[in-house]
Amino acid sequence: MAKSIEFDALGLPPEAESLRGEVREFLDAEIAAGNINPNNAGGRGSFDRAFSKRVGAKGWIGMTWPKQYGGHERSYLERYVVNEEFLAAGAPTQAHFVADRQSGPILLQHAPEEIKADILPRITRGECTFCIGMSEPDSGSDLFAAKTKADKVEQGWRINGRKVWTSYAHQSDYMIALFRTAPPTKENRRHGLTQFLVDMKKPGITVSPIPFMTGGHEFNEVVFDDAMLPDNSVLGEIDGAWKQATSELAYERSGPERFLETYQVLVELIGALGDKPDLRGAEGVGRLVAQLNSLRRMSISVAGMLAAGKEPVLEASIVKDLGTNWEQALPAKARDLAAFADVEPSNRPNFQDVIDHATMIAPKLTIQGGTREILRGIIARGLGLR
Ligand SMILES: Cc1cc2nc3c(=O)[nH]c(=O)nc-3n(C[C@H](O)[C@H](O)[C@H](O)COP(=O)(O)OP(=O)(O)OC[C@H]3O[C@@H](n4cnc5c(N)ncnc54)[C@H](O)[C@@H]3O)c2cc1C
Repeated sequence: MAKSIEFDALGLPPEAESLRGEVREFLDAEIAAGNINPNNAGGRGSFDRAFSKRVGAKGWIGMTWPKQYGGHERSYLERYVVNEEFLAAGAPTQAHFVADRQSGPILLQHAPEEIKADILPRITRGECTFCIGMSEPDSGSDLFAAKTKADKVEQGWRINGRKVWTSYAHQSDYMIALFRTAPPTKENRRHGLTQFLVDMKKPGITVSPIPFMTGGHEFNEVVFDDAMLPDNSVLGEIDGAWKQATSELAYERSGPERFLETYQVLVELIGALGDKPDLRGAEGVGRLVAQLNSLRRMSISVAGMLAAGKEPVLEASIVKDLGTNWEQALPAKARDLAAFADVEPSNRPNFQDVIDHATMIAPKLTIQGGTREILRGIIARGLGLR
């Protein structure tokens, strides 16, 4: 059904802004202790369990979850502030990021009580790492074509098949995976998929690296060969996972991680142009900052709408599409703006490093979390244009 684009005009509440000061103090101490190197272009947002434990001790993982499960019952907008400060500083959040953003909320909604009581408090303490098992060799954009099978047997569920591009599977304790439990029906091709909680230590699961062109290791192939899962690993409705995916994807697509992954380029550009940029540099930086501010306001608006129980699927897709395109264009714009400027010699090496890194990772930005074409299809459908 056609609808219009609606971004509620929301700002951050005062308690979120006062939390920002606390987060900055924590990050300054982490930088001073050598735990975060803000100038390390390639290592931003990396995986560090010890850091996640310190974040857990501050009460900044599972911030919005019920206290009963180790959460802190704070607002989504407070969580937003923690997230954006960590991203801006390049903090090594990978060991808790996925669990905090999406796996924990899925468990809260769909896991049996004994699983929630066991796993959620461990996530909030920064002790438990999750990966996302959606994509397969022939099922990426078309998620509902997934073939990895879960067969019901007497002892539970037997899993066979293969997931690919699974970020950090090699370092994860658990995966939340989408498996086929029945064929699709004529009426509903999305029918027949179920979400499962997978303990990555179970026999029959093999994780192999898929190296990045940049040399790093984040991606993996995960093969399931008669891996057995217990009955209580089913999350939500059997065969009905498609109904559960909507708000999960809106959270995944609209956060500040969708426009702050290459943020350091902007910071370094401003540093490189110095206190007295030429007119062209000043005008260019002004435009970039104004665009970033608009993205941020849209993203905060989606966070607020999700917190209010709305389903801003269309708006979340717009944030991701605009955000990742902005990030992708940023390195070339920064290079261009600095080309004729008298770049501060002391800032030159780091400026070049961050531009090189951002250029190398740029292609992935419009693929992860839903490709540009898929998002534009969702937007067009939402507007009644297809
Ligand atoms: C950095 C990164 C991290 C990732 N991490 C994970 C992870 O942790 N877990 C996980 O499950 N997956 C992960 N992925 C995989 C990601 O979700 C998929 O790559 C993505 O959904 C696209 O699927 P695909 O690679 O199979 O490409 P395809 O779906 O084969 O798409 C190929 C091209 O065809 C276009 N296309 C496809 N269908 C249509 C259509 N209907 N209309 C128009 N154009 C279309 C696409 O836009 C794309 O340009 C990650 C990907 C990246 C880049």
